[in-house]
Order: sequence, then structure tokens, then C-alpha cells
Amino acid sequence: MSTPSVTPFVDLRSDTVTRPTPAMRAAMLDAEVGDDVYGEDPTVAALEARALALFAGPGSRLTSAVFVPTGVMANHIGLRMNAAPGEEVVCDAEAHIVAHEDAGLALHAGVQTRTTLTDRGLLTAAQLDRLIRPHAPYTVGTKVVELENTHNRGGGSVYPLETLREIRALADERGVAVHVDGARIWNAHVASGTALGAYGEIADTLAVCLSKGLGAPVGSVLLLPAEKRESARVLRHRLGGGWRQAGILAAAGLYALDHHIERMAEDHANAALLAAGLRERGLEVRGPETNIVLVDVPADAAGVAGRCRAQGVLLGPTGPRTLRAITHLDVTDKSVAQAAQVIADCV
Ligand SMILES: *Cc1c(COP(=O)(O)O)cnc(C)c1O
Repeated sequence: MSTPSVTPFVDLRSDTVTRPTPAMRAAMLDAEVGDDVYGEDPTVAALEARALALFAGPGSRLTSAVFVPTGVMANHIGLRMNAAPGEEVVCDAEAHIVAHEDAGLALHAGVQTRTTLTDRGLLTAAQLDRLIRPHAPYTVGTKVVELENTHNRGGGSVYPLETLREIRALADERGVAVHVDGARIWNAHVASGTALGAYGEIADTLAVCLSKGLGAPVGSVLLLPAEKRESARVLRHRLGGGWRQAGILAAAGLYALDHHIERMAEDHANAALLAAGLRERGLEVRGPETNIVLVDVPADAAGVAGRCRAQGVLLGPTGPRTLRAITHLDVTDKSVAQAAQVIADCV
């Protein structure tokens, strides 16, 4: 028998579900705009400069930025700046670019991915040392290493800075580039205390999301070397991402960078609260390292998620026996405490 649906009181499916706050909307309303395809939107320019300043430092390779509609597009363009069609990117087997981008990289970029299984999605320099291979007759050579920080399917796991530095050194030694999918790099920064500038020294290209925990309605920024900026903008246009008065959206991103980074500590505290509540009730929980909680259930994760939905808690099943709960701007400590009880009951 099906339970009647109730209005959800907490949406833990993703941190993409956040809605712009009134102050963010006010910033959008006031944004000065122009045509960004002509490079004439001052608010887009301000956002790109601001994002770049956060990651730029003396040792950084990132010297310019391009505002793009989505994280998928930022990854796609970033990877294509380092690998041409017919070339290869290596990454972990649970990477977002492999699991959640509808094979866009294969279809639109013609780039091959080669993967390996890892602990929590985090590659090590030793694994990459075995994976990276030089071009030879009949052998596709590796052009780029892709890292995801934090790692989504790995449970919001954070790369230790030391590991990133070892990987950067290996990439230099082997002559390959590094692309970082930093959709949630903000969470990594807040959880580990690593300066964003230190992350800027690791990547040749870095994709960051404004529309996840930061709470902007739309948008990602691709950081890259200045000499690649024009070709990145051409590819963005080719993919249908040439937008016009995008300053309205950039204003939300600027607001988020100014006001919503450090507050992610609250999301991490709420995730820890949820995990503790679930463990108290005997559930098997992984993490959290940041804002993602993975719950292992004996069977039928989709069925459990369906029962939770009927009780007002929205969750994502991410495998036959795994549920994922993500905390964000629109989640409170009270609602996660209640959610822990509902989830335990439904399991
Ligand atoms: C959400 C996400 C993206 C891309 O997101 P869009 O929905 O395209 O903005 C990329 N990488 C990771 C790890 C993500 O979680």
C-alpha cells in the first residue's frame, strides 16, 4: 500500500537544489550588464577576475577565467584544452566525468577516458604512475590526469594537499596536464583549511561550480592559462554556451563568493549531525568528510528513498544499496535531526 505523499521538509538529494537568497536576488537585480559574447559584460568580467584572484598566486598556472553555464561544460572545455579528439584522459572509475555527464566527453570531445578503482575516488601518485602511458605506435598516449576534489561519489572526500602535490610533480615529470573538477573545491577548502591559492598551484585547468553549495542559481567558472582563453571561449560558443547579458547570473556568483564560502562549515556540521543520528540508530554510514553522507542499506536503496520521500525527506539512491544525502544552504540542523529518524524508520 502506498503512503500518501507529504510536502518534503528537507531536500537532501543534492546541493544543486539551493535557491538564491533574497540578498543574492537583490544583487542580481542591480547587476550592470552587456553582451558577453562580445566580451562586454562588466559583471561577468568582475566575476571572472574575482574567481581568478581566489586561486591565483605566484606558483599558479591559472591566469585567466571563463564564466560558463554548467559544471559539465567547464569540465568539457577544460579537458579539451589539454587533450584533442582521439587523445586520452586518465581518472578514477567513479569520476563525475565518467558517471554523470551522459558520455558527453566521448560524444562531443572524442576524448577517451581510462580509469582505475580508487579508495573514495581519490587517486594516488603511485596509481597514476602506473596508469599514465606515453604515446607509441598503436598506443594512445595519456595527455591529462583528471582529479575530482571533493569527490562526489566518493562521499565528498577531500584530497590531501600532499597527495595533490605529489600528483602535480608526477604530471610534470611525465609531461601530462592536470585538470581538476573542483565543483566542490570550496567544501575541500573549508573542511581542510587548505588555501584556495594552494589548489591553484596544482591544476592546469580548474572547473569550479557556483550553483552547488555556493547557492547561485546557475554557473561555473573555468580557470585556465591566459593563452588558452580565446580557444576556450570559441569552444564554449560551439557548445551553445555563448550567452549574452549573463551578468545577471554572474552577480549571483559574485555574491556567493563574497558571502557563502565560509558558511559551508555549517553544511559540514549538519552532515556530521545527520551521520551521527543515523549511526545512533544502527545504520551503516560512510563519512562525512564534508557535506555528503553515504548510507549503506541491505537492499533496495530506491525503495528506501521512495518511502523517505513519502515522509518528506528527499534523498538520492546512488547505487542498489547506497543512499546519498547532501547538506546545503537550505538545510537546517533541526531538519537533519528529523531526517535521521525518518531515514532510520524507512530502512
Ligand atoms: C555537479 C557536478 C558537476 C557539474 O555540474 P552541473 O550540473 O553541470 O553544473 C561536475 N562535477 C562534479 C563533481 C559535480 O558534483
